[in-house]
Amino acid sequence: MSWKGRDVINILDFSREDLDLLFQLANRYADEDYRGNDLENRMAALLFLEPSTRTMYSFMSAVYRLGGKPITLSKTEASSIAKGETFGDTIRMFDSYSDVIIVRDRREGAAKYAADIAESPVINGGDGAHNHPTQAMIDLFTITRYRGSVDGLKVGVLGDLKYGRAAASFILGLTIYDPDTIYLISPESLRLKKEVRDYLDRVGVKYFETEDLTDILPELDVLYVTRIQKERFPDPLEYERVRGSYKIDLSILSNAKDDLMVMHPLPRVDEISTDVDNSKYQYYFKQAHNGVYLRMALLKLIMGD
Ligand code: ASP
Repeated sequence: MSWKGRDVINILDFSREDLDLLFQLANRYADEDYRGNDLENRMAALLFLEPSTRTMYSFMSAVYRLGGKPITLSKTEASSIAKGETFGDTIRMFDSYSDVIIVRDRREGAAKYAADIAESPVINGGDGAHNHPTQAMIDLFTITRYRGSVDGLKVGVLGDLKYGRAAASFILGLTIYDPDTIYLISPESLRLKKEVRDYLDRVGVKYFETEDLTDILPELDVLYVTRIQKERFPDPLEYERVRGSYKIDLSILSNAKDDLMVMHPLPRVDEISTDVDNSKYQYYFKQAHNGVYLRMALLKLIMGD
């Protein structure tokens, strides 16, 4: 299916062939540290109604690097949202000011809702605890770039699998490929959401749930660490019970494969010790860096000539 004009709402809307094409272009941009005028005279609206560093600024950087112009809204108190304007009307306005809308909102389904209203393509920059498809694209691209493929790998996903949208989208994204096994490592109360587990069952991907990393760590090719999503807990006591559940440091990693990739969508709080930063296992900063090239490729395929 052609990329031109497409919405990006859920990673499962994309096939392996779609992602191959995207990663091919992202690899080229990364190899050349590309800058160009491919999106000259194109405008991209960035509506970030929830905090963001990487998603918002890497999209902005991607727009600038391709010669386009970003329009941003991130402080709702400085816009008509503070006067009571509805989300739908805000989307309608940005639709008429720009050629693509990238939106982040705390409500599940917000990006889909925006896509149903807007004529321009809408990219989901995160909708509550639900989806974060461009993060999943970056994650899959990073594995493909350094390992050649996701196929046959043993992938551990650790941390907050209940509220983490990056974790959920990454896990769904893995099913587009043929990984050996997905290990879901979390405290019992932060187990992967049922709807995602049901999907894994339906497509027949092999997965294994555990609270303990120790036994499976030596098996893993990728360890995807996630932050406990403090802001999504309805009850602060529930958060207190699980905070600091896992901490990955170099001594724990002494049991890992030599070429284990430690990934993280970032921001980290304390779940990866800084002593991992300068080790061979560190892929999380590379992952964030790759985010710019991946998002450039995405914008070019959706909006380019
Ligand atoms: N940056 C990612 C997200 O927006 C992960 C996180 O916040 O923990 O979902």
